[in-house]
Amino acid sequence: MSLDAVLAGIRACRACADELPHEPRPVVRVSPVTRLLICGQAPGRRVHESGLPFDDPSGDRLRSWLGVDRETFYGDPSIGVAAMAFCCPGTDPKGGDYPPPRRCAQLWRSQLLAQLPKVERNTDNATAAAFRSAHTCVVKGSEQASGALAVPLMAPAGCVGVLAIELPRGSEQRESMRALVTILAAQLARVVAAVRPAETADAMPGWSASELSDVAQAASIRT
Ligand code: SF4
Repeated sequence: MSLDAVLAGIRACRACADELPHEPRPVVRVSPVTRLLICGQAPGRRVHESGLPFDDPSGDRLRSWLGVDRETFYGDPSIGVAAMAFCCPGTDPKGGDYPPPRRCAQLWRSQLLAQLPKVERNTDNATAAAFRSAHTCVVKGSEQASGALAVPLMAPAGCVGVLAIELPRGSEQRESMRALVTILAAQLARVVAAVRPAETADAMPGWSASELSDVAQAASIRT
């Protein structure tokens, strides 16, 4: 199945119609060139109304961590959003949102992730090398090509992804640029670590360990 077909299926999905407090409105934003996949739990009320992922205060915080403005966040196809569940689960009268419905990940996650590009850990390039070694890899620029930095995203459990950034030739050698990208990678690692199984188990009662693990994997930065 193609990515377009999977996305069409998600957008037409009404599997939870009898359980949600509103008409399902799946919110997902990925493309064939998605390289940074952000995975939250589920859309909240404001996102349900607008149809735009992270169109709320949590999105403002996320963009501030990432150092990108709204225009870039919504206009750059390399940035994608695919939550653990695509529809708003509704608000608990005691406060907060209900957990994301498990059915959504069971129905769609593996199909969607299978259509997104990814780098295998044994691939011979700087991104995979940074993941394997947990050290920053520098790709030196030349007259024909830009430079790049590949910085591992380090969480308490180890490397959870890699931030790879292409830079104008020479910038990759500057200490100030390396420091800046390292800070950005640390912020991204916090985002990714925030949805690792240990942290999400409390917020998602009823999800099995393997499902949470799958979800956390999906939250990793895919480069
Ligand atoms: S939450 Fe997922 S499975 Fe449920 S209706 Fe929405 S898209 Fe379908």
